Amino acid sequence: MNDVLCALGHVASLQSLTSRGISSGQLRRSVTTGRIQRLRRGVYGCGHLDERIARAAAIGGALTCVSVLRAHGVWAGHSLRLHIQLPPTSSATPDPTARFHWALPRFGLRIPGEATPLQSLWQALHCLDEENAIAAMESAMWTGFLRPEQIRQLAVHAPRRLHDGIRRIVANSGSGNETIVRLRLERAGFTVVAQGHVPGMGHQDLVVDDCVGIDVDGRAWHEGDDRFATDRDRDVQAEGLGRHSLRIRTAHIFQTWPHTLAVIERAVADARRDRERRHGRVLVKLGDPF
Ligand SMILES: [Zn+2]
Ligand SMILES: [Zn+2]
Repeated sequence: MNDVLCALGHVASLQSLTSRGISSGQLRRSVTTGRIQRLRRGVYGCGHLDERIARAAAIGGALTCVSVLRAHGVWAGHSLRLHIQLPPTSSATPDPTARFHWALPRFGLRIPGEATPLQSLWQALHCLDEENAIAAMESAMWTGFLRPEQIRQLAVHAPRRLHDGIRRIVANSGSGNETIVRLRLERAGFTVVAQGHVPGMGHQDLVVDDCVGIDVDGRAWHEGDDRFATDRDRDVQAEGLGRHSLRIRTAHIFQTWPHTLAVIERAVADARRDRERRHGRVLVKLGDPF
């Protein structure tokens, strides 16, 4: 019984369960023992069903938008409000703590449960501001939540306000924080390369004007001693190449950005001056008369 329901995505209509040979007696027994739960008339979920999906199913909807992205480890901005997709025929009473969406059939309808990945990201592009929407698109690609051709398909239907950001999308941004810092720096006039190579040491998250490397913390895999050691090794290697390194964390991006930007501007200006000075010394050596 539970195997069938799990295979259906942990939530299913009575119709799909009976079509797979589940009898009403089996269903009743499983509800009594708590292995499955009745979410609303004709809709059942596993006992271990995600509480947010259960809440959406109870009012005849499906989890969607940023709520689905977040559940799959895709960048979804900062709001923790529940986003629920309703079928066009729904008469659900609006719940002020949730945000409701009407499904666009073109991107697939999947009710109950979770909206399709395409539907979820399409809705998120309308809910999120520009930098978070672009970060969600890059994150969806990076995590494999959607394929590049699906991202291109969404780009065609994206709101106009996102067109400039969409033109600057890269496929190798390692986190939402990283995308947002890159977009802000590009807007400030810098040339920024995502995942800039440091010979012998892999990559730095961002390389600004080819002279300052930035690693953007706030990702789970930055924790732990091994990662700490690798990061520090790379800082030393980058510095040895004459590339100054900064390490910034989430609060520097979302709480004290003007100060962070000023620090980056200063670091880039200093690095440029250093580079010019070095070039100056080389030229003096080559120019024999001195
Ligand atoms: Zn299950
Ligand atoms: Zn939404």
